[in-house]
Amino acid sequence: MNFNELGLSQKVLAAVEASGYTQPTPIQEQAIPPALQGRDILGIAQTGTGKTAAFTLPMLCRLEQGRARARMPRTLILEPTRELAAQVEASFAKYGANHKLNVTLLIGGVSFGDQEAKIMRGADVLIATPGRLLDFFDRGKLLLTNIEILVIDEADRMLDMGFIPDIERICKLVPFTRQTLFFSATMPPEITRLTEAFLHNPVRIEVARASSTASTIRQVLVASHGHAEKRDTLRRLIRDADNFKNAIIFCNRKRDVAILHRSLDKHGFSAGALHGDMDQLARMASLDAFKNGDVSLLVCSDVAARGLDIPDVSHVFNFDVPTHCEDYVHRIGRTGRAGRSGTSITLVTGEDRKYLDQIETLIGKKIEWEGPGLDELPPALETPRHSLRRERTPRGERAGGRRPAPSAEHEAPVAATRPRARKAAELDARPSRPPTYGDRRDRRPRVHEDDGPPVIGLGDHIPSFLLRPVVLKPAKVGEE
Ligand code: AMP
Repeated sequence: MNFNELGLSQKVLAAVEASGYTQPTPIQEQAIPPALQGRDILGIAQTGTGKTAAFTLPMLCRLEQGRARARMPRTLILEPTRELAAQVEASFAKYGANHKLNVTLLIGGVSFGDQEAKIMRGADVLIATPGRLLDFFDRGKLLLTNIEILVIDEADRMLDMGFIPDIERICKLVPFTRQTLFFSATMPPEITRLTEAFLHNPVRIEVARASSTASTIRQVLVASHGHAEKRDTLRRLIRDADNFKNAIIFCNRKRDVAILHRSLDKHGFSAGALHGDMDQLARMASLDAFKNGDVSLLVCSDVAARGLDIPDVSHVFNFDVPTHCEDYVHRIGRTGRAGRSGTSITLVTGEDRKYLDQIETLIGKKIEWEGPGLDELPPALETPRHSLRRERTPRGERAGGRRPAPSAEHEAPVAATRPRARKAAELDARPSRPPTYGDRRDRRPRVHEDDGPPVIGLGDHIPSFLLRPVVLKPAKVGEE
């Protein structure tokens, strides 16, 4: 099948041709015709399948008729993160090159003023993260009564980030008669419930199992003793990697992204970082630097990196084994895209066995070890004593890096104090708005992106002067 057979308008077809696409991807082939007929769509598809064009192209055709009115956008696209929202905006610029449309981005981390001015001008397409959208709505700066098409993208990610109550609320604010295009990589029960409540007789399209990993990706595991050793191992793996061009390195927590980024920097690697605590400008700058090749390593958290379209990544490193097995599939899917080959290397410690088992069950195969497996790993010869302090404070990396020091037992308390369940959202797409709706964000707690328990005083560290025996002088006669 080719694009001409899908029922798209001439303007859209011209833009598709200019993009260099010759054939629609499976999700485009199946979603575009019913979407053009006004049907609701339930698309079970990951990023990389061409799903953005699958909803953008029919939207553009629909928008050729009619005009937007002030404060009343005509279509609304909800994205879990600012980066994804910006990426969809770029898709509209590309596919909508022949349309004169007002496309507005409503995301946190940037000033309200410009966004408000654009909404006042009348937005044909509003691309928003849920928090900022509701902020605007609650301030009376936006009306959702004219929405003709609602797109909910990456719904399972919205669930992970605690946005489902917001999504439910938004679905009730837009007209009942709108068309809904709904995309999710996986269908956990909460998402199924949402689709049952808010989609009307949808066309269900499933393009690839969310648990499948591309055959173009070589996957290996590397055993390691603990966090500090992992940094050494990672540096060695990067230096020795075959066909290395660039790499995305995933950590489970924001704090570790910052630590690892500084460590790589200190060791002379050209690295950027991407996590939810960075402001929007810094995030975009990091992403651009990586995409342009100004840095060859990008250290990321899951939330910040999910769904980003970076076409040519040669390696993915899991510095930490993800605690949610679906994240493994998403992470390694950053490489081996569009038929290219890629390599994913996961560093595994003894604590990760359970998560590794879950990943292997999900993807339905065993991942090979490169070098000794966890059970054959020789005992650690030397683990820097400062590793505990390093994990606790980002400053520790540089200061600690100069100190020699052995002692593996310091690794244990870090793991022991690591909480299993923590407040969910990285909140990177959310502004600091107090919750306005039944706050169920904690419903699906994740270990990701948290910064661990607050460290009180000196934490587990006991300064040596406190351990010195106290010698009391004998009391003098007459003294109490
Ligand atoms: P997405 O899943 O929407 O993030 O798209 C992934 C990548 O596929 C993007 O870089 C798109 O530019 C590209 N793409 C989308 N549709 C097509 C197509 N029909 N042919 C070739 N590449 C495409």
